Amino acid sequence: MTKYIFVTGGVTSSLGKGIIAASVAKLLQARGFNVTIQKLDPYINIDPGTLNPYEHGECYVTDDGAETDLDLGHYERFLGKPTSQANNVTTGRIYQTVINKEREGAYLGKTVQVIPHITDEIKRRITLLATENEFDIVITEIGGTVGDIESLPYIEAIRQLQWENGKENCIVVHLTLIPYLKAAKELKTKPTQHSVKLMNENGLSPDIIVCRTEEPINGDIKRKIALFCNVTTDAVIEANDAETIYDVPLHMMRENLDLICLDKLKMRLRNEPDLKNWKTFLQKLKNPTSKVTIGLVGKYVELQDAYKSILESFVHAGAMNNCKVEVRNIHSEHIDKDNCKTQLSGLDGILVAPGFGNRGIEGKIEAIRHARENNIPFFGICLGMQCSVIEFARNVLGFPTANSTEMDIHTAYPVIDIMEDQKNIIQMGGTMRLGAFECELDIDSKSYEIYARKHISERHRHRWEFNNNYLEEFEKAGMKAVGKNPKTSLVEIVEIPSHPFFIGAQFHPELKSTVENPHPLFVGFVKAAIEFGQKIKHPSKLESVNN
Ligand code: GLN
Repeated sequence: MTKYIFVTGGVTSSLGKGIIAASVAKLLQARGFNVTIQKLDPYINIDPGTLNPYEHGECYVTDDGAETDLDLGHYERFLGKPTSQANNVTTGRIYQTVINKEREGAYLGKTVQVIPHITDEIKRRITLLATENEFDIVITEIGGTVGDIESLPYIEAIRQLQWENGKENCIVVHLTLIPYLKAAKELKTKPTQHSVKLMNENGLSPDIIVCRTEEPINGDIKRKIALFCNVTTDAVIEANDAETIYDVPLHMMRENLDLICLDKLKMRLRNEPDLKNWKTFLQKLKNPTSKVTIGLVGKYVELQDAYKSILESFVHAGAMNNCKVEVRNIHSEHIDKDNCKTQLSGLDGILVAPGFGNRGIEGKIEAIRHARENNIPFFGICLGMQCSVIEFARNVLGFPTANSTEMDIHTAYPVIDIMEDQKNIIQMGGTMRLGAFECELDIDSKSYEIYARKHISERHRHRWEFNNNYLEEFEKAGMKAVGKNPKTSLVEIVEIPSHPFFIGAQFHPELKSTVENPHPLFVGFVKAAIEFGQKIKHPSKLESVNN
């Protein structure tokens, strides 16, 4: 039978519930258990696909095309296993299902209510994941903070699941904040007591309390929390600030969080945790032998969560190359022809980010021109790739007003155009080209060299594409389509072979980079940046090495 671990949050948001959930999952996986993580989000949107990045950070996309919360990115990066539509459910989706059923007459004349109909649907979504996949353990993270009005049906659903399945099959890990008051030189437990009390009022009590803190928690404070929150003392876990999120599983192991979970779930130990690859990664991450500076050109750079997966991919690819990757955020709206050189000086590589709409587009195009003309390693993702096509059309092919029809519907040179099957879509949510698609690589290309295989599958989230009517002209002038969808011929990757590293990908490679399997394109890009830096900064040294 599948066992359940629920992760709730108390006192404040942004405590890192996703990282704690992913860390517990990693430790249990390392001990030989088949584990998955699910996120239940209490907001009304059907999914985060229609949310602005300022609102919600990056929208993560799964292989099966679900637009999901960015925590799913952490789950995949930690576990190295793909998630799916079923791993992220919002209140909007729960209500949509219930309302659709009501319209079908499925409730046979009954009054449809939060309890039992909404809570039943929440329970169904939790257990569905277990029954469909035979997981040993499903970890379910509840978004928001205990005490929020919108979290109540979730708390009630967990209470019912616990009652139905027994406490030894369903446990609650409550992540909370223990603030340190500088003036009093004291750690304060009262907010935690209050948040547990709020949970108790709804019939639920935590089994384990994970305390986020900036100061070490001593035995007395642990006992105090245990006493007032009604948990065993060993179940009060300290979660200090970590140097990197990838340290958290090891911190949690030191605190025995995995063993305490298994004990409370009455599960027998399988093996000692196998974290060899994880530790090798950390070792490399913390002991870099070189450093590169990559410019991240985007319009949401002031908000780190908007490019979460890209930033994490650089962490993975940096470690793989024993290199510290410093990412310099460059706002695309601040780049123009005149300041381009100074804005982009000192960079070893330029990544132009994905995005939607007109804002900042000309800055992106300028940055790409700078990278192309100065042989600076360039990596364009989705809109970044589309901008590289526009730049090439304008400055190499001599189509001065070339554009994407997303930006200029009347352009005389629609080198990026809307996909045929996207033209009549009026409903915005969940209707882009989403999820994993096959791509076939040209064996005579840098991408093939990097992937070391011909057939790849990558995740997508876009409506526009390279306009194949122009392909011949591009290829003649030196920009090649080296990756294509074998069924539709849609262009997936463009390269400029005469440039040391110029790759534009229509898909999102950052969504498939994990700690133990960094994405090859990011690894290749960082490698090219290291080489570029050596050539620029120490040309003589490189020559002597080459001689
Ligand atoms: N706006 C572009 C499109 O829809 C690119 C999307 C993206 O970068 N994810 O095709």
